[in-house]
Parts: sequence; C-alpha cells; structure tokens
Amino acid sequence: MRLRNVTGSREYIADSRYVIHEYKEKKGNWKEVFGNENPIRVEIGMGKGRFIMDLAEANPDVNFVGIEKYSTVLLRAIQKQEEKELPNLVFIRMDAEEIDETFASGEVDRIYLNFSDPWPKDRHAKRRLESRQFLERYDHILRKDGIIEFKTDNRALFDFALEEVEPAGWKLDECTFDLHADSRLCEGNVMTEYEEKFSSLGNPICKYIISR
Ligand code: SAM
Repeated sequence: MRLRNVTGSREYIADSRYVIHEYKEKKGNWKEVFGNENPIRVEIGMGKGRFIMDLAEANPDVNFVGIEKYSTVLLRAIQKQEEKELPNLVFIRMDAEEIDETFASGEVDRIYLNFSDPWPKDRHAKRRLESRQFLERYDHILRKDGIIEFKTDNRALFDFALEEVEPAGWKLDECTFDLHADSRLCEGNVMTEYEEKFSSLGNPICKYIISR
C-alpha cells in the first residue's frame, strides 16, 4: 500500500467517531463500546477494510474491530464506514504489537489475518503477524475456544506460518493451499482487496484455521 502521505489523514482520523482513540483504556470493557454482549472479532492489518466491512454488514449480531497501522490506509476504511454507518464496526489505528494491552483475557472471539506483510528477511521473522511471538499475544486475548483464520497468496509466508503453529502450542484445524478450489472451505468466503487482486492474477490462495 503506497498511501502513506495523504495530507490530513491523521487529523481526519483524530476527529472520527468510528475510531477508538484511547484504545488501551477499553481493555476489559469493549462490550461498553458496542453497548451489547455480542462476540467481538478482530481483523489485524485490515487495509482499506473491504473484508471486515462486508463481514460486519452480513453479521449484525457480531461486533468487529478493524486494526490498521497506517493512517492513510485507515482513512479509506473510515470513509466507507461513514457511508454505511455499521453499528457493529469500529477501527483502531495501532501497531498489532500492542494487541494484548488493548484486549483483556478471553475478550476476543476470533482473529482474522489477511494477506499480512511477509517481512521476508529472517531477522524480521518476529514481526510477521503469524510468528510465535504474535501467537503468544493472541493467546492472551482470545477466548479458550477462539480461532484464528489466516489467508495469503504468499506461499513462503504460509509455510512459515504453518511451522509456527505447533511450537507455539496451537493446533491446525483446517488448511488448504488453494482455497478457491476447495468448495468446503471456500463456502461463505468473504474476499479481501488483496485476495481479489492476486487471485485474479491466477495466484492460489492459502488458508489455515488454528485453535488451542
Ligand atoms: N488485509 C488487507 C487485504 O487483505 O486486502 C490488506 C493487506 S496489506 C498487504 C497488509 C496491511 O496490514 C497493511 O495495510 C499494513 O499497513 C497492515 N499491517 C501490517 N503490519 C501491521 C501491524 N503490525 N499492525 C497493524 N497493521 C499492520
């Protein structure tokens, strides 16, 4: 995403009622943000937000939190939400490294990771959102029966992610190296922006679902 310098995006985000600004203060109290007891699902690195917005629209009894590091990308998601005004969707601009300072133990029902940045250099492996370091953070916030769903077209990143599952104490529930050819796992699939782009180029999409 090369949208990092759209003028005024930080100011726009600071004024948005769809963005939770003091997010660490909400830890343990996210139900109050939504005003109900519905489960809370989080997408990390949501980009321009197409996936989470489609999910939120189709699942009004579930609450969604979209996390994105860069203001200029988040701005696009906010602009879409201003048109739709979905009551079950909010955003946070933050680095996912802070996720276990943001949600309390068991507060999150499900985590979505879609087309995460690959960080190809070995020395950056711990920055990958599927690394054991991140799985440990997710372990702190996810309900005991909660799951993580991960999609990517990057085979090297997917292979790395698969190797991290067991050493981190998780188990592989589902796995495919070609989601769109797998009628069972693809049923109800909601496309992301990157998924649409890369699958249209002929790249197979890998997906796993993991739990503890
Ligand atoms: N998930 C979207 C999709 O599938 O279309 C966007 C994919 S894009 C390749 C990855 C996104 O994750 C970028 O918008 C990037 O800024 C965000 N991101 C990467 N690392 C992050 C982190 N540590 N915390 C929050 N967002 C992050």
